[in-house]
Amino acid sequence: MRIGRAHGRLVIIDGDGVVDAATVSGGEFSADPDRVFAVWDRFTEWAGGHADPGAHTGPLVADGLGAPVLAPSQVFGIGLNYREHAAESGVDAPEVPPVFTKFRSCLAGPHAAVELPSDRVDWEVELVAVIGRFSERVPEEKAWSCVAGLMVGQDLSERRVQLAGPVPQFSLGKSFPGFGPTGPWLTTPDELPDRDDLRLTCSVDGRVLQDGRTRDMIFSVPELVARISAVCPMAPGDLIFTGTPSGVGMGRQPPEFLRPGTTLVSTIEGLGELRNALVAGPGFPGR
Ligand code: ZN
Repeated sequence: MRIGRAHGRLVIIDGDGVVDAATVSGGEFSADPDRVFAVWDRFTEWAGGHADPGAHTGPLVADGLGAPVLAPSQVFGIGLNYREHAAESGVDAPEVPPVFTKFRSCLAGPHAAVELPSDRVDWEVELVAVIGRFSERVPEEKAWSCVAGLMVGQDLSERRVQLAGPVPQFSLGKSFPGFGPTGPWLTTPDELPDRDDLRLTCSVDGRVLQDGRTRDMIFSVPELVARISAVCPMAPGDLIFTGTPSGVGMGRQPPEFLRPGTTLVSTIEGLGELRNALVAGPGFPGR
């Protein structure tokens, strides 16, 4: 099943059509997508009987899609979760996952225009896991059952803010407005032939910059859920940005960063595509 936020409302996505959940359920389910995760089991059971062309309430309009989750209680980010990305960052592969937060005010839709606050903004395509049930001290072997679905994400990163000061400021440097595009919708893991091995790519104006596979993650989705929930109880709707493969701009010789007037396209096999136009923000040099 695929669910999304179309013109602000919770929809089931079925081919080229959508089913408005609040309308078709007679109000049993809220139109607010952020409220569905608290009743995830009941919703998926109901939705299974309504995700078909006969129930369509309208066409799927790409420009009307917003971030499937906008108000999670927590957003976790994972650093250095692919060996080649750790190497291009000049550090050893981690023995425990480095965890930070993206403050939720950075979340944005799959087609949102993103303002660049400086000429040091980097790209990081990532698999994003959405938690579907209260998760505390979850063992790894049960962790997939805590995941409602998967999305494409971009962990946009302003490297000057991230790396200024005595220690890196991952959370702040990765949380400017628009720095967390996600979507284009949430896909439940059962839709995927292999939920542990998905190809992910990132390109700018057709030039491929990242091309990896999630099977190369050092810490898998279930291992991340287990390790995070051992410390922080996670709530339905919480997000995990699971880390980026190699090919980021900072690791290139010479380093490269995103430029206004270009379009960043992020894809994950089976999950869809983000397409974000980049524009100069107020702090961009020469603007
Ligand atoms: Zn990242």
